[in-house]
Amino acid sequence: MPRRLTGFTPSGELHLGNYFGAIQPIITSQATADTVVFVSDLHALTLEHDRAEVRRRTLEFVVLLLAAGADPDKCLFLVQSHVPEHTELHYLLECVTGYGEAQRMIQFKEKTARQQQVRVSLLTYPILMAADILLYDTDEVPVGVDQRQHVELARDVALRFNARYGPTFTVPRAVNPPMAARIMDLASPTGKMSKSTSSAAGALRLLDEPEVLRRTVMRAVTDAGTDVVYDAERSPGVANLLTILAACTGQEPTRLAQEFHRYSELKQAVADAVIATLAPVQRRYLELADEPAYIQSVVRAGAARARERAGEKVRVAKSALGLLPA
Ligand code: ATP
Ligand code: MG
Repeated sequence: MPRRLTGFTPSGELHLGNYFGAIQPIITSQATADTVVFVSDLHALTLEHDRAEVRRRTLEFVVLLLAAGADPDKCLFLVQSHVPEHTELHYLLECVTGYGEAQRMIQFKEKTARQQQVRVSLLTYPILMAADILLYDTDEVPVGVDQRQHVELARDVALRFNARYGPTFTVPRAVNPPMAARIMDLASPTGKMSKSTSSAAGALRLLDEPEVLRRTVMRAVTDAGTDVVYDAERSPGVANLLTILAACTGQEPTRLAQEFHRYSELKQAVADAVIATLAPVQRRYLELADEPAYIQSVVRAGAARARERAGEKVRVAKSALGLLPA
């Protein structure tokens, strides 16, 4: 039974790409595998942040993940900053990571190129991510291409630590999410839908009102042609709409393409399908948002369970490093 871990950084609003690419796979995974789900609020501090916004979004992510079906009885569900072992192991792992290794990360290079004031945490957060992963003996980390290099780093750090100080960590690997669908930005369909970079016209947010979802789909960029064909190279906007419809209905995008003769018909169908897919999640979100005491209890219990497991791992790592008697 593989152990899997997925984190969500509250750096923007959760969108349909997160839903199909990460949230749904958790729901499937938690039934059969040891699954860890967490809101990585510490990672949201690597860039300029608004304090109230980080707190609000962290809570929103917790409630949304529960509304979408993450079940705290079936998975380990936690908020990263509530489990201090994450930062404790982070430091220990920094002591087995090279400066050059951290500097090589593509995300670091890209993000520093765009900013003047760079926080040290932007350099070191992949090591915190390695701690997130190694604390729970994770085997598999389902991630998109942009995070693969960070999982590789976690792997290298685990191998090195084990070789130098004795077997301590499970060596993780990056895997493709079971639903390989990558949802693209509706306004510029050659880039992926993203929390931090998609504009309002590019993203379908999980908590958007039905009218907003419909308007965004109807305005999606297609191309000058008129035929509905599934061709991600030549017609990425139309292909993306077909991918979304396929993800919502469980059908094949190429087969769906044959059902529509005009872009406007396709868009109506996509809007209907997205609204229908998100309706139960949104309904449940409103119910749960009305039960703050319940949400508090879920988050507290999750942190307590996580601390037991993570605390043991930190003790083993500390004694391997010579900080505690073996
Ligand atoms: P950011 O812009 O801050 O990186 P993001 O939208 O890329 O945000 P992440 O927090 O990086 O979201 O990723 C959360 C999970 O959602 C990951 O498992 C990632 O692979 C998945 N995911 C993100 N965007 C998409 C997408 N457009 N299609 C499918 N899966 C996605
Ligand atoms: Mg991302």
